[in-house]
Amino acid sequence: MIVVMKPEHTDEELRQLVARVEKMGLRTHLSRGERRTIVGIIGERELIQEIPFTSFPGVEAAHPILQPYKLVSREFKDENTRISIGAHVELGGRAIPIIAGPCAVEGREVLDEIADALHALGIPMLRGGAFKPRTSPYSFQGLGELALKFMSDVRSRTGMPVVTEVMDARDLLLVYKYADVLQIGTRNMQNFKLLTEVGQVDKPVILKRGMSATIKEFLMSAEYIVSHGNEKVILCERGIRTFETETRNTLDLSAVPLLKKLTHLPVIVDPSHALGRTDLIPAMACAAVAAGADGLMLEVHVRPHEALSDGSQSLTPQAMAALLDRLEPVAQAVGRTILRTPQQGTGDAAKTAAGAS
Ligand code: PEP
Ligand code: MN
Repeated sequence: MIVVMKPEHTDEELRQLVARVEKMGLRTHLSRGERRTIVGIIGERELIQEIPFTSFPGVEAAHPILQPYKLVSREFKDENTRISIGAHVELGGRAIPIIAGPCAVEGREVLDEIADALHALGIPMLRGGAFKPRTSPYSFQGLGELALKFMSDVRSRTGMPVVTEVMDARDLLLVYKYADVLQIGTRNMQNFKLLTEVGQVDKPVILKRGMSATIKEFLMSAEYIVSHGNEKVILCERGIRTFETETRNTLDLSAVPLLKKLTHLPVIVDPSHALGRTDLIPAMACAAVAAGADGLMLEVHVRPHEALSDGSQSLTPQAMAALLDRLEPVAQAVGRTILRTPQQGTGDAAKTAAGAS
């Protein structure tokens, strides 16, 4: 149920409403927007129906939320959620940030090379895996804490916020210590224990869509995180499993406008894991922006042929620079722009990056 308070409601009226609801064992979730205060009431439908919300002083209206996901739904909150990361990045606003970097952090030098090339292009955020969810137990599993340290050193040096995956609730505190944004990978989208844990921290979470998850299941997983107190959830479409084998997954771009309709949370797209091959990435990255994506996640490596994982889908910094030139007019066409870090991202910087690697 969402209860909309009158614009002139008093704090005491709000307190009375919350006290009554919580006394019945129901949970409340306050959202103070620019214009209105809204109280979300969560719990058993029968109990909620017993409360005559509109008789409370200060209450303007009460509407049931029909969707099974409540707090993340557009019904609950009409305005787009904007999530700030570091000094320069905002997700869910007009400017579209790109999160780029290697699949896995393979060592300090190679990470620095990649990060410097991306920084010179004005890419505002760095990604890189420290704990890798590999299909084979014999594949490179990531450098763990060492990788986290290298990433956080890059942040200190360049100011780029860093994103990395947390695979297990037991690693959460460690990852939390170093990362600016926590990533939940496709294979863990329904690891409800992990979702509950990241719901209790105060750092943004990129939640990747399960490779076989419906939109409803995806949003229910986001609801797990938000309902435990962390409202900073960024949804990431990264391709779903279909019968097609020419691409690694099938990029479900219809998920973008659909999610934007159903939820107020920012939606980003990862064409790298969706396609598994570099040749199709530029077209699909442009298509994602045209479809309304609030951000892009892209794998970039200075020497993709030497990458320890996902080299076949990793762009070089030169290809990234060329893609940026293609993306900007697409973003402009839909009333947006590609976010570049201040004082960076000029043509000269792009040339330097391309020349350096
Ligand atoms: C990743 O982004 O590093 C990753 C493993 O992606 P996904 O969980 O989407 O496969
Ligand atoms: Mn990868």
